[in-house]
Amino acid sequence: MDYSHVRGVDPAVADALEGEVDRQQNTLAMIASENHVSEAVMQAQGSALTNKYAEGYPGERYYAGCEFANDVELLAIDRAKELWGAEHVNVQPHSGTQANMGVYLAMLDPGDKILSLELSHGGHLSHGHPANFTGKTYDVEQYEVDPETGYIDYETLAEQAEAFDPDIVVSGYSAYPRAVDWERIQDVAESVDAYHLADIAHITGLVAAGVHPSPVGVADFVTGSTHKTIRAGRGGIIMCGEEHAKAIDNAVFPGAQGGPLMHNVAGKAVGFNEALQPEFTEYAERTVANARALADTFSQHGLEVVSGGTDNHLVLVDLRPSHPDTTGKDVEEALEEAGIVLNANTVPGETRSAFNPSGIRAGTPALTTRGFDEEATREVGELIVRIVDDYDDQETIDAVAEDVQALCDAHPLYD
Ligand SMILES: *Cc1c(COP(=O)(O)O)cnc(C)c1O
Repeated sequence: MDYSHVRGVDPAVADALEGEVDRQQNTLAMIASENHVSEAVMQAQGSALTNKYAEGYPGERYYAGCEFANDVELLAIDRAKELWGAEHVNVQPHSGTQANMGVYLAMLDPGDKILSLELSHGGHLSHGHPANFTGKTYDVEQYEVDPETGYIDYETLAEQAEAFDPDIVVSGYSAYPRAVDWERIQDVAESVDAYHLADIAHITGLVAAGVHPSPVGVADFVTGSTHKTIRAGRGGIIMCGEEHAKAIDNAVFPGAQGGPLMHNVAGKAVGFNEALQPEFTEYAERTVANARALADTFSQHGLEVVSGGTDNHLVLVDLRPSHPDTTGKDVEEALEEAGIVLNANTVPGETRSAFNPSGIRAGTPALTTRGFDEEATREVGELIVRIVDDYDDQETIDAVAEDVQALCDAHPLYD
């Protein structure tokens, strides 16, 4: 990574940028929502398009000089349509949260009703949490996963929908390890005349590669992020049928945002093109196979894997049955010291707090980008188990750190 221009004018920032490259090379990123983009995507994101105002859409801009901005936006849109098979795509949302904001603004009035999954059960802040604009603007009721199985309880969801009469039902989650039955949730939404928003932020890439069922063409709206299981740089995306195209585009601009981040749209175009190559399907398949290997390793060592396994890129562990006195934060901190970066997470039926919850969430998208196969992922799983068993033992942490360093060295990230 060449930060010589930054170093020339601002050594303090250059230190931080180089420090971050070094940190990513020498630790294992297992936060389920993180990945490593290619240098091509980074170059597009760091391009001269950051200078360009392009309010509006290709063909109807409010500023002159948008020739090349139009080129990248149209490329991003065409590639997204090919990846997900959507009729209409808006590639301008700055983030996944703003993609959701676009849908709510387009279809709801303040005070309208949202039915969504509870945050501690795997939902997302932008699905109606009181601290988020959604919780302050809309009337929110939440469903849960079955505390016994860890699966979405579709029957109870249907009953709740019947009683609450929502305007929109939100599916798609942050910490749900199982395949989602989009048709079933669509039926629930239709039965109460509500829209259905499927937020595939976490599994955007898995859906594009066909390793997770797609809600496109099933749900009324599909939102996604472009930086989790697909490596197109930080951002959001909205997909819908032609009948909602105008409303969605108006809600994103001028409704929720001003000028689009055209350098990020360029990153999306490049990352989507990478995802259209045959290798990406292999990547997505390996991501899921690695997550299964990780879940299996945890189970074999007596850890409680929520729902008993995984269908996607993430594994959720409930520490309470095997380690009742150990919290997710204890494990997160010891793992960070050993060079494995994941997050403490709430689990279904959480009995602690959101800040110091009872579980950990581990994802495989970033490791898989670095070339980890199932065997190497099992090795990482074993290292995590050692820390879970002995999180307060410095010798264990130091020993694990050495093994982590060897794994990092064997899987270089950037040249
Ligand atoms: C990650 C995520 C988002 C998007 O988050 P941003 O940080 O705003 O990009 C949206 N919904 C869900 C379910 C997520 O997990």
